[in-house]
Amino acid sequence: MRIANLGGRAALVTGVDRALDVAELSDGAFGPDPHSLLDDWAAFLAWATAPREQSADALRSFRLEDLGPPVPRPRQVFAVGINYTEHAHEAGYPPDAMPVTFTKFPSCLAGPRAQVVLPTATVDWEVEAVAAIGIGGRDIERAAAWDHVAGLTVGQDLSERTGQLVGAKPQFGLAKSHAGFGPTGPWLVTPDELPDRDDLAISCALSGEVVQESRTSMLVYDVPELIARLSAVCELFAGDLVFTGTPAGVGNARDPKRFLTSDDTLTSTIEGIGTITQSFVGP
Ligand code: ZN
Repeated sequence: MRIANLGGRAALVTGVDRALDVAELSDGAFGPDPHSLLDDWAAFLAWATAPREQSADALRSFRLEDLGPPVPRPRQVFAVGINYTEHAHEAGYPPDAMPVTFTKFPSCLAGPRAQVVLPTATVDWEVEAVAAIGIGGRDIERAAAWDHVAGLTVGQDLSERTGQLVGAKPQFGLAKSHAGFGPTGPWLVTPDELPDRDDLAISCALSGEVVQESRTSMLVYDVPELIARLSAVCELFAGDLVFTGTPAGVGNARDPKRFLTSDDTLTSTIEGIGTITQSFVGP
């Protein structure tokens, strides 16, 4: 199942440009707010997977430009750094005994085709698989962790490197939370629909040149491990997001360094989910 945010309304994607409005299709039992599905995830899944009459009234056509972030207002956004070994090497950090965890403040979230204003000339790319929590909790066991995930989506953890690295200690949260720095989408894909929820090709291209390419099976802490470790500290809530970390190939680690400009188009793709595309303005 692919769940999109179409103009602020939850929609089930049925084709490249077709979706069913959830509120219309369920006679108001779920939706229109995308979070209403996540808040009642078990009931929503039971309804969504049951046989039902197709409703022509619920059918909508859409353009990718019309889509908002599939989870627009998470209570918590966890982000994990240094979570692919090759990226840990290029960033100059060894993988840690605990996931290096910070937040992207939720006001940075944007849709899959957002145009992003570059606040400085040192904004970097980080393609990431993003997990959305469907059923929250504390002390979730690794073996049960996937049952708590509503779906995965494609994300970019855009990062303003000057602000991040100017001080004596790195400043992850603010430097990664400028307006539009958390584009996500194009939709949420439930784990059952993915070819292999633990091993998905992930890549990112800058104006057609592939700059990052890996597989989610290369994560140091995979999705179940992250959920187990995060929930051992913080209660997870339905709709929380986890940015799981980026593979090698970021601009700050290149020689010479390379950063996003208004000439660039950034495309980020995960197998079985889709592609998000950003263009840029400024600085
Ligand atoms: Zn990141």
